[in-house]
Amino acid sequence: MRRSFFIAWLAWVLTLPAHAQTNLWQLANQCASVHRFSTIFTAQDVLNCLSTDAGIEAAVDWCKASGITHVFLEEYRDGYLADRATLQRARDRFRAAGFLVSGSVTTTIIGKPSNGWGPEVCCYTDQPTQAKLQTLFEYAAGLFDEIIVDDYFFCDCTCDNCDAARQAERVTVGDKTYRVEGDSWGEYHRALMLHVSQDRVLAAARKVNPKVRLIIKYPQWYDMYQERGYDVARQTAAFDRIWVGTETRDYTNEAHWGGTAQYAAYFLMRWLGGIGGDKCGGGWYDSFGTTPPYYIEQARQTILAGARESLLFCYGSLNLAPQTTFPPSMPWPTPPGPAATAAVRAARPGVLAVARAVRRRRPIGIAVYKPINSRGGPDSRIFDFLGMMGLPLVPFHQFPTNAPAAIFTLQAYADPNLAAEINDYNKGAHPVLLTGTLAALLSPQIHLPAPNIRAINFPRQLDYLLVQRQAALEDFRAPLLNALHVTFNAPDQVALYLFSPDGWVVENFNNEPVTAVLNGKDLKIAARGWVCHWN
Ligand SMILES: [Zn+2]
Repeated sequence: MRRSFFIAWLAWVLTLPAHAQTNLWQLANQCASVHRFSTIFTAQDVLNCLSTDAGIEAAVDWCKASGITHVFLEEYRDGYLADRATLQRARDRFRAAGFLVSGSVTTTIIGKPSNGWGPEVCCYTDQPTQAKLQTLFEYAAGLFDEIIVDDYFFCDCTCDNCDAARQAERVTVGDKTYRVEGDSWGEYHRALMLHVSQDRVLAAARKVNPKVRLIIKYPQWYDMYQERGYDVARQTAAFDRIWVGTETRDYTNEAHWGGTAQYAAYFLMRWLGGIGGDKCGGGWYDSFGTTPPYYIEQARQTILAGARESLLFCYGSLNLAPQTTFPPSMPWPTPPGPAATAAVRAARPGVLAVARAVRRRRPIGIAVYKPINSRGGPDSRIFDFLGMMGLPLVPFHQFPTNAPAAIFTLQAYADPNLAAEINDYNKGAHPVLLTGTLAALLSPQIHLPAPNIRAINFPRQLDYLLVQRQAALEDFRAPLLNALHVTFNAPDQVALYLFSPDGWVVENFNNEPVTAVLNGKDLKIAARGWVCHWN
């Protein structure tokens, strides 16, 4: 009896890992129309991890165990072009195993380096660099029907050749010349990247493969797009799909790209989601500079913001030692990849349930307005901090005419009709908050003072907003929340997300548990936890 019990127990234990894997893979396939998880094999991962049948089988197993149903196999990165036969064999094996399979190109170290960012980023005024870029996309389009372009596809070069073209207000791509409207660096870089995208990437790839769809991934540094050549209006129109960098990482990590507040991922995913509409594919984050709680926060932000897919960068860093992914010359940190993988696997059923609830609702809250190609100046990244203060934000790229309450920052000044629009908006007596920087520029043209308008001088640096006293927080939030018929009391760094119909999420970014009160209801929220409500 005891012996047979032991054998039954042993048999059960032995089947556990396979059983758990099957469930996550099955769950992922069941939820694919709501939200999909994907990963990317960098060109170096293709070499190191997919060159043998055993490597491919291990990768298939890892993806299935991770509930990943879409893989991107990269053709080029950092000077390395992945082998065609290796890519074909891995592509076909993944397809046969039931995965969606796409390609990828990372436009680093191609030809002439930019004199700005560093060696990874290129001078696209340079014709041989443009020609090399074209060959990479022709190669990728010969292998895949969908190709994602990682977020190094920009230009901040100000070399003599770039400067001459800028001053002449001309962009030259191959044998074509395009006129640029204006002679600022931002205008030149945006026109350059648009026409290089159209001629050297999109047209070139479609000539090789008429079915190919190109995805442009926009970086997480949204207030700098317009200077470095990302034009989210014209490039989103030109590309087939867009993707969003939601890699906020650990705010306090000084060694590895810290300093981005977690709410940035939510703001950006929503802002670009509004611009891209159905073209918006998903978010993209990695484990660099994170610990598991920060990694999971990236997953939550991406899903709360309505993404249809989460791309986990990258197989090599999540599964193996980092030196197998990046050239040893690059000072990449050791990522806690396996820990991040375990965390995101464990969190999967919960985040998928939230994804399902979010996809059936629309966000409601306080409008914030960032026109396309707008600068942040001293208000750069302010939306991230406002969200961390417990204000439920709804990002707009056009003036939020019908919003119940609004915050206007320096970014809005890019709208030439802003003063008239704010004066019109005020006729509805909605609560309005202006940053001091914007109020100073607008004050001759808008009707100040008005009882519903407050101008606030925010601290410099803005990260002082993360440690506000309770009384200051209440005073700051209450008039705006009143317009939403919501009361919310919580410490700083507790975010509130409101959805219609009848949904809300309160997320605690503090390292301690907190108590919050939402519409009179007491909520106890674990350290770095969240509470979700759906009716
Ligand atoms: Zn240049």
